[in-house]
Amino acid sequence: MTAQPNPEAGAAVKAADRAHVFHSWSAQELIDPLAVAGAEGAYFWDYEGRRYLDFTSGLVFTNVGYQHPKVVAAIQEQAGRMTTFAPAFAVEARSEAARLIAERTPGDLDKVFFTNGGADAVEHAVRMARLHTGRPKVLSAYRSYHGGTQQAVNLTGDPRRWASDSGTAGVVHFWAPFLYRSRFYAQTEEQECARALEHLETTIAFEGPSTIAAIILETIPGTAGIMPPPPGYLAGVRELCDTYGIVFVLDEVMAGFGRTGTWFAADLYDVVPDLMTFAKGVNSGYVPLGGVAISGAIAETFAKRPYPGGLTYSGHPLACAAAVATINAMAEEGIVENAARIGASVVGPALHELAQRHPSVGEVRGVGMFWALELVRNRETREPLVPYNATGEAGAPMAAFAAAAKADGLWPFVNMNRTHVVPACNVSEAELKEGLAALDSALSAADEFV
Ligand code: PMP
Repeated sequence: MTAQPNPEAGAAVKAADRAHVFHSWSAQELIDPLAVAGAEGAYFWDYEGRRYLDFTSGLVFTNVGYQHPKVVAAIQEQAGRMTTFAPAFAVEARSEAARLIAERTPGDLDKVFFTNGGADAVEHAVRMARLHTGRPKVLSAYRSYHGGTQQAVNLTGDPRRWASDSGTAGVVHFWAPFLYRSRFYAQTEEQECARALEHLETTIAFEGPSTIAAIILETIPGTAGIMPPPPGYLAGVRELCDTYGIVFVLDEVMAGFGRTGTWFAADLYDVVPDLMTFAKGVNSGYVPLGGVAISGAIAETFAKRPYPGGLTYSGHPLACAAAVATINAMAEEGIVENAARIGASVVGPALHELAQRHPSVGEVRGVGMFWALELVRNRETREPLVPYNATGEAGAPMAAFAAAAKADGLWPFVNMNRTHVVPACNVSEAELKEGLAALDSALSAADEFV
């Protein structure tokens, strides 16, 4: 499954990258990107012939793995037939993708506005909510990520916002529940849930319900730490939105399309938002695509009045053909069920077992193929292994952890003091066990800092 090593080709790729590619979220001269030669399934490999099991799924988007033959074939077929077409037309790949998505989204989220990715899906969801309600403000949680464009970064509730915050976006942040680092002095999930809902209702009251267009939440916050909400929280937010006429937006850009072992994380909590954003897993990121699934009531607002927004590549046929093939492959191959089954039977138990043996593991959280290990210096005080910082930089302990994992053929996800276990949703049990064994020895490197 790897190509012949070709270090000279790798060196050329790297040299051009270093000379001309300006990378996201990085100090350009302090990074050393790996030159990648190829990828298949849950693995990728470099030009030296080293192969890595990808526990990151790219940026948590290759839910069907790399180079899935059905998705590659669908893209090739679409490219041969109709590579592109403007968004104002009815095009088969676009309408079929929308139909398949609407069939799977909860409740009456039956219309789909397509975007190029997650951040612009969030931008449009917020615009729709403001126009639908005629209200200006949006409430968003701390410990969240909603994207790198201006509105989405303003909504983001962690240090990735600091450098770019415009300060004028009508965004108010609140604390969502997270028992391990409770802001509410809670000892139990029930307390955390009740107090977080009370805090949110108080925030609404003091901001003024008639000024609030939307509440936006990641169903399960992803990059900020994979923090499944306590039972009842999202239903409680739904109730508050109904009481105060606020649009409920769930951001499923990361958690959607099988990641949690259900089609959407909202299915785990039996909650139906008014707008739901998606991207990434919708077509495993093979061609950029995102979107907003829209309820009947909000679609009605724009039935006779134009929706004032659009994108040149909205519903791009290549991206939509990839979505159709991805969704069909997930259904035919039981990929969502695979994520649920081996998440519960292999990943969860294995991570809890690692937590018993490794003093650096403070908490294990997750569901499906969506897990986080929170690493600490001290389990009693829960002091993070690396301090909270504005850049998400890993620092020496996390760098030692990542280097140990890579030396063992595992590519780990690292953000601040966390590592996330987010492989492809169709990863096999044998592949997972190989990755978990490498994770075991990498955690020994982190233990050195406890
Ligand atoms: N929302 C969530 C929950 C995300 O995880 C991300 C990306 N990590 C985004 C929005 C932004 O998506 P994109 O990078 O495709 O713009």
